Amino acid sequence: MAGGWARDGAVQDQIDDSVADAVSAARASMPSGTGEPFCTLCGGDIPEGRRRALPGVRTCVTCQSGRDRPLAATFNRRGSKDSQLR
Ligand SMILES: [Zn+2]
Repeated sequence: MAGGWARDGAVQDQIDDSVADAVSAARASMPSGTGEPFCTLCGGDIPEGRRRALPGVRTCVTCQSGRDRPLAATFNRRGSKDSQLR
């Protein structure tokens, strides 16, 4: 069934364009390249297998797994500061 105002296939063309846009956006938001050969936090080697598995990875396993702790410490410091202001 034709849409009446658009030729047959126009809707499919629009869908194809949307998919292409989504793919482009996804590629742009993804880390590019093979990542860093050395951890940006501790300077340690990042194994090639890890870089292949996680394109654009910039931290070693140790720093990656420890990332939650500095974040929690930040929240704790903020909490202390707030209580000092009261
Ligand atoms: Zn590290």
